[in-house]
Amino acid sequence: MKVACVGGGPAGLYLSILLKRQDPSHDVTVYERDPEGSTYGWGVTYWQGLLDRLRARDPESARAIEEHSVRWNQGVAHVRDRATRRPGDEGHGIGRHRLLEILAARARALGVRLEYEHEITADALPDADLVVAGDGVHSALRSGRADRFGAELRPGRNSYVWLGTTKVFDSFTFAFVETEHGWIWCYGYPFSTERSTCVIECAPETRSGLGLDEGSEADGLARLEKLFAHILDGHPLIGRAPAGGGTQWLTFRTLTNRAWYDDNLVLLGDAAHTTHYSIGAGTTLALEDAMALADALSQDVVLPQALARYERERRSALLSPQSAARYSAQWYENLTRYIHLPPDRMFALLGQRHSPLLPYVPPQLYYRLDRAAGQLEALRRLKRWLGPKIARSAHTRALSARK
Ligand SMILES: Cc1cc2nc3c(=O)[nH]c(=O)nc-3n(C[C@H](O)[C@H](O)[C@H](O)COP(=O)(O)OP(=O)(O)OC[C@H]3O[C@@H](n4cnc5c(N)ncnc54)[C@H](O)[C@@H]3O)c2cc1C
Repeated sequence: MKVACVGGGPAGLYLSILLKRQDPSHDVTVYERDPEGSTYGWGVTYWQGLLDRLRARDPESARAIEEHSVRWNQGVAHVRDRATRRPGDEGHGIGRHRLLEILAARARALGVRLEYEHEITADALPDADLVVAGDGVHSALRSGRADRFGAELRPGRNSYVWLGTTKVFDSFTFAFVETEHGWIWCYGYPFSTERSTCVIECAPETRSGLGLDEGSEADGLARLEKLFAHILDGHPLIGRAPAGGGTQWLTFRTLTNRAWYDDNLVLLGDAAHTTHYSIGAGTTLALEDAMALADALSQDVVLPQALARYERERRSALLSPQSAARYSAQWYENLTRYIHLPPDRMFALLGQRHSPLLPYVPPQLYYRLDRAAGQLEALRRLKRWLGPKIARSAHTRALSARK
């Protein structure tokens, strides 16, 4: 089979590895518009479950990913000048740059052709049996068939900026700072022995009130360094604005699609769906898409059936993370509902931000119920069950609204 993967992000590269492992006679090319070694973003988080799945699929790349990842098993939340620590599940972080380097090297070793600085446009798709749109959230290939895919992009309310720092956090670190223009907060986590990621978020009126989007990037970073001096310990924040540009504040957009494939063109990773960064799952979901598509292609020889199977499986697997992501984003948008609670309670509810019940129950009551029910597995099961249900009915409502 001849396969063209458009986009050399985690999704496209990992799919190329899996296809070559399944059948070395597959002719697989990855087209990436940017030069090799240049990428956006900083570190990405993932959890043990992903590592286990990667090991089962391709032990060699899994070993390299594990070797180059850092780990933590605690969280710390700073609210004003008070820090609260809590033990947590073991988290892993790896630099996006390093992850792509590992995947590209492995793909090459398996015989995948990697064509960097080769942008594909929707009106000149490569000649292949299967064309994979792994070209990210702004997918040009998807936009080229907008009617068929029916993408819906829902912007969140808050602004964020994705930064790096030389401060190496020892835990997953949250810091909430109150200013005269409202709250601003950051999530920081290490991704190597030399660097951490810092995602900084606030309401748009806080951003403009603090003048964070004025002047050069250096001005903006200096203001942020001052606000978060208590967790940075003198280390700088690092941005990636083009020369002369200001700090790159963005609004996160949650993407869903009505269809995931059209003829021999299929969506993969962020081109198919996005989940709010506060659940740290986009890369994991992109890699899992690649696993599901590779499986479907090996199980069904008839292409439309394989693509339908892939779409069905991934839509269903995504219901729970999509629900978690929506509630997590809303938790931050409604921060003032929680931030004045005693710090240990606030932190406990921060850990519960994916809950579909939390927005509807007074926070102090929820906290007490959750503690009382603590070990009551039934409540947890109800929350897990409600999450996908609510996500599914929201999806159905969105679909019928479009009809
Ligand atoms: C602030 C922030 C923090 C995040 N943190 C995490 C985290 O901690 N953990 C996590 O799992 N995920 C995280 N994510 C999500 C994660 O970055 C994405 O979900 C993931 O990169 C998706 O992978 P992908 O391969 O689908 O797309 P991408 O990584 O976006 O790759 C797409 C590639 O396609 C290329 N391309 C685009 N158009 C073309 C074209 N026409 N021709 C050729 N090439 C093209 C692009 O240059 C790019 O290299 C975060 C996202 C954000 C915004």
